[in-house]
Amino acid sequence: MSTAIAPTAHNPDVAGQITYAMRSMGIAPIPRNYELFYEAYIGSNPALTRALAALGSSATQEELDAIGAKYFPHHASRVFDDAHARLTIGLDTVLRALRQEQATLQSYNRLLGETYDNISSRSHNSAELLRGAIDMLTAATGDTMAQGEKTVENVVQRSQEMDQVRKELDEYKRIANTDALTRLANRRAFEDRLASIFDNRLTRPTTALVLADIDHFKRINDTFGHPVGDKILATVASVIRARARRDIFVARVGGEEFALILEATTIEEVATVCERIRHTLETTPFKNSRTRVDYGPITLSLGACMASEAVDSGELYNKADLALYCAKNGGRNCCSIYQEGMQKDFTKSWLIYKN
Ligand code: GH3
Ligand code: MG
Ligand code: MG
Repeated sequence: MSTAIAPTAHNPDVAGQITYAMRSMGIAPIPRNYELFYEAYIGSNPALTRALAALGSSATQEELDAIGAKYFPHHASRVFDDAHARLTIGLDTVLRALRQEQATLQSYNRLLGETYDNISSRSHNSAELLRGAIDMLTAATGDTMAQGEKTVENVVQRSQEMDQVRKELDEYKRIANTDALTRLANRRAFEDRLASIFDNRLTRPTTALVLADIDHFKRINDTFGHPVGDKILATVASVIRARARRDIFVARVGGEEFALILEATTIEEVATVCERIRHTLETTPFKNSRTRVDYGPITLSLGACMASEAVDSGELYNKADLALYCAKNGGRNCCSIYQEGMQKDFTKSWLIYKN
């Protein structure tokens, strides 16, 4: 799977080869998997081909779906359509079972009423009449109870099925919101979280956004290659995750860019969190224990801004970004806090930096 082969006149059975590759890797022969392998085979999207190759020969459906969700947005809607259809069928069956139960209880009730009328209309209740009525009610009670048990069984089974669909949806949502390389939240999850800051007027004043970018990461790729770059990215992500409090939201928002959303009463508190992460990364060894090659030091520049400085998520992002570029301009491997006036001073420098 690592080398893409374009279909040619000498190699016309693309579908056969893809299906063969999928079968030999134990991949379920379903359309969404075929679409992934087709793209990888054709090689039109190198990132997708790389992601698929990185899964090796024992890819799980969850891992394949994560790649599908990343590169084919329509995969997500297909999974939701499927779940929706299964939930609709489940609910329909439960409703039908309950209606049937209601009908059974209504006829049982009618039978009770008729028996009561029957008995009370006779002036002399003979033992035989009572026995007959009791037999009839016993049989009807047995039928009603059996029907009730069937309904309960049916409803329990359907609820278990619906619970399974819910779990699958939760899992899918988790995958769709997770970055495959670092296991952190991805850009999609970050956008949601960022927007939600401005939904809550109570917590907004004590919320901060931090943007972080690895310094000179291109050099790492150029010197040691992309696969080493990927491993370093994953390690940086785990250092950030480990050094940030559990309640801090951490995401990978771009290639070598990360974002943190945290609760803090003062900007000094935010600066302390940033400095702790920056310092830990700076002192983390990045040495290949086998080859003894030293990839480090790996450093990070960070920019932070309190949500109270902005009117919406776009402005907050831009201000944290401005602080980040100020940290880059300040020599990298440092933290910078957004300040009023930074915008004017640094718009120019930021453009220089970008060039
Ligand atoms: P700066 O200090 O100014 O941020 O320099 P930089 O080299 O980190 O910045 P630049 O934006 O020039 O380069 C970012 C590099 O990150 C370019 C790209 O090759 C690399 N990169 C982005 N995503 C990935 C990825 O998923 N894996 C690897 N290995 N590298 C990536
Ligand atoms: Mg960058
Ligand atoms: Mg960078």
